[in-house]
Amino acid sequence: MFAVRNVANLSKHMCNALKRSQMMYSTGITEKASPLTFLTDDEKMMKETVAKLAKEQIWPLVSKMDEDNQLDPSVIKTLFDNGLMGIETPVEFGGSGCNFMTSMLVVEELSKVDASVGAYVDIHNTLVNNLMLKVGNKAQKAKYLPILAQQASGSFALTEPTSGSDAFGLKTTAKQDGDYYVINGTKMWISNSDVSQVFLVMANVDPSKGYKGISTFIVERDTPGFTVGKKENKLGIRASGTCMLHFDNVRVHKDNILGQIGHGYKYAAAYLNEGRVGIGAQMLGIAQGCFDATIPYLLERKQFGKEIFDFQSMQHQVATIATQIEAARLLTYNAARLVEAGVPFMKEAAMAKYYASEVAQTTTIKCIDWMGGVGFTKDFPQEKFYRDCKIGSIYEGTTNMQLSTIAKAIRKEYSE
Ligand SMILES: Cc1cc2nc3c(=O)[nH]c(=O)nc-3n(C[C@H](O)[C@H](O)[C@H](O)COP(=O)(O)OP(=O)(O)OC[C@H]3O[C@@H](n4cnc5c(N)ncnc54)[C@H](O)[C@@H]3O)c2cc1C
Repeated sequence: MFAVRNVANLSKHMCNALKRSQMMYSTGITEKASPLTFLTDDEKMMKETVAKLAKEQIWPLVSKMDEDNQLDPSVIKTLFDNGLMGIETPVEFGGSGCNFMTSMLVVEELSKVDASVGAYVDIHNTLVNNLMLKVGNKAQKAKYLPILAQQASGSFALTEPTSGSDAFGLKTTAKQDGDYYVINGTKMWISNSDVSQVFLVMANVDPSKGYKGISTFIVERDTPGFTVGKKENKLGIRASGTCMLHFDNVRVHKDNILGQIGHGYKYAAAYLNEGRVGIGAQMLGIAQGCFDATIPYLLERKQFGKEIFDFQSMQHQVATIATQIEAARLLTYNAARLVEAGVPFMKEAAMAKYYASEVAQTTTIKCIDWMGGVGFTKDFPQEKFYRDCKIGSIYEGTTNMQLSTIAKAIRKEYSE
């Protein structure tokens, strides 16, 4: 384990790598002909460090956290202490100052061990920190970024009981009253909200304008009238807390408007696009983690006097799944590099999320089959990977919505 001070040093080093990698990818010039899975030395170092941390400090607690339906406080502390809750947050704001690709590698590595921890870190970094970083004003960044990087997790609150896929049909209102806005409404399925202190809340300041009235408000947990409600009892990613939020005449000062009034829908669309690459990384981590946990068993377990792995029909299945995992990796890393290069990536992000979540499902089903009866028990990790991956085709836009996005992009490309 390395302390925050060391992370800051590592981060400075990584900032140079970030500049190098951004130059390489934005100009299309590569130092050598780089495969898509090329990682800079710094990215590799972060990936390896997080893999070690996950194995040593998170893995022993995974089953208990799944049973308890919550993250262990020591895990949350470890994530903050090691700079993983402010991966892209600049060092001057107490973050690690790394690039987007590094964020994705961190989510992948954590999800190999526990997808709930992957979700916690991914949502906090891609949807909360990054929105605050890109859209927040000077005072908001100075106040919230250091807290979010070092001590308090955040939530992104868009979905409501009556608006899921149709997210901009939200009903929560924020009526102006002098220097304040008064928020009323209910949010549903809000990740991290069992432990978050800072909430980015989408509410409509003028429903007559439809989605163009949607604005983003920073709401602190202890604001009067705001309550975190029922925690969902979920199939998978159980340790990632998902709760309802209730707003009953919650008064928020206009200083807590994030970005411009009426631009909330733009921010949600933009950052959910980045978030989808994160879900791709989470699903990739689940698939790889499950595969890694299964192959050694196939090499050891014998039937008919042979290792299970020796049967050709098994080898072909293993090879097919390995290829699909690699394809999911290529899509996810490609989308991440496009984000870094500052070029359009909406279609690629949708493809990465859609495909990686399909691959995670196929992989985990196959791994359970390959393990036989023991794969069906809680003594082995495959059943948890299987439950955890189901969320990939639901949150941050269902698979249907990703396919619609891809089809829309194709129509546009072929109509130009
Ligand atoms: C564990 C978990 C964590 C979450 N975390 C957050 C969070 O942190 N913040 C947040 O704001 N939200 C969060 N969500 C909400 C999530 O993004 C929504 O659940 C998701 O967008 C789907 O919305 P819905 O559940 O209302 O499903 P619905 O929109 O009701 O969809 C039901 C089905 O209908 C299909 N469907 C709907 N519309 C269409 C269409 N036009 N074309 C084709 N098919 C369609 C969908 O694909 C789906 O199969 C979370 C959800 C879960 C389960």
